[in-house]
Amino acid sequence: MKILLLAGDGIGPEIMVEAEKVLAVLALPVTLDRALVGGAAYAATGHPLPPETLDKAKAADAILFGAVGDPRFDNVERHLRPEQAILGLRAALGLFANLRPAKMFAGLEDASALRPEVASAIDLLIVRELNGDVYFGEKGTRTTADGQREGYDVMAYSESEVRRIAHVAFRAAQGRNKRLCSVDKANVLETSQLWRDVVIEVAAEYPDVTLTHMYVDNAAMQLVRNPGQFDVVVTGNLFGDILSDQASMCVGSIGLLASASLSEGKQGLYEPIHGSAPDIAGKGVANPLAMILSLAMLLRHSGGDEASAARIETAVAKVLADGCRGADLGGDMGTTALGDAVVSALNNQT
Ligand code: ATP
Ligand code: MG
Repeated sequence: MKILLLAGDGIGPEIMVEAEKVLAVLALPVTLDRALVGGAAYAATGHPLPPETLDKAKAADAILFGAVGDPRFDNVERHLRPEQAILGLRAALGLFANLRPAKMFAGLEDASALRPEVASAIDLLIVRELNGDVYFGEKGTRTTADGQREGYDVMAYSESEVRRIAHVAFRAAQGRNKRLCSVDKANVLETSQLWRDVVIEVAAEYPDVTLTHMYVDNAAMQLVRNPGQFDVVVTGNLFGDILSDQASMCVGSIGLLASASLSEGKQGLYEPIHGSAPDIAGKGVANPLAMILSLAMLLRHSGGDEASAARIETAVAKVLADGCRGADLGGDMGTTALGDAVVSALNNQT
């Protein structure tokens, strides 16, 4: 398997080093390549996603991505800003499915925004559609009959767009606890009515998965009231954007959460859900666990290597259960020390 490492900006390079240490311990038959992306690429080449990086991305089986974003370039033209690199990669690679697992690690219940007994039951996966919806529909501003300015963004989903994300979600549910909750707003939105119809159609191919439906407003409430009820949640781009950030706060630190962005095939891009964290970059205090857990997702989804993925996740859980904490969780362990702890937990696995 060919893995492209795109460390990017801010804390990206620091946490990438720790993921590489983990990869080295596993001694897997992978080839690694590296390229510049984001502000680092803009500084060197004048573009946040240079052609060479894009070519390497297309040729890779999987991409491990750190973070992009650098305040030094906040005022350059929009299409040259570091953040454009990730949007360009998603579009060029056809990454339409965003998977965000949220699981409560034993010993971290007190870090959750929820009561410990509610938080401890969280073990869910949000599958968010990434290429459609209101972000990509027609948009603009116009003048109304009475002379006011009016902004509009069209929310649209085609059957095939809903069908392909539904398949990803049903397959994910088959690999977990076989429950899928589809979140929409079918009582008021046409898009959502179509979404619901298509998801029900696709369900016929997955008789072993129990499908339920929930309106997004209720889902937001249930996620806080009783998150333990969810296994896999599938939803559109806008609702998924909001619900996945909400879910992340339910399990504690942003420094713990990984994500996968997948295409039709096995290719995928894997990254922590957090950004480049310029406020702590270069200080050696960033939590590398989200990056390390992103590597686990890469090995599972693009590498088909469930065993190595599970080994990494078990090692991270062990480190947290042993009380290792970075600054984001009120502790004093730095980036390198946390990476070393995972490495030694891996070496001690039997
Ligand atoms: P983006 O817009 O790129 O998604 P952002 O600027 O909204 O990101 P982040 O870069 O994710 O936000 O940072 C938000 C806060 O979380 C910052 O205070 C940052 O220091 C902290 N943070 C983010 N990632 C980590 C990490 N891995 N370890 C510790 N703290 C982190
Ligand atoms: Mg940012």
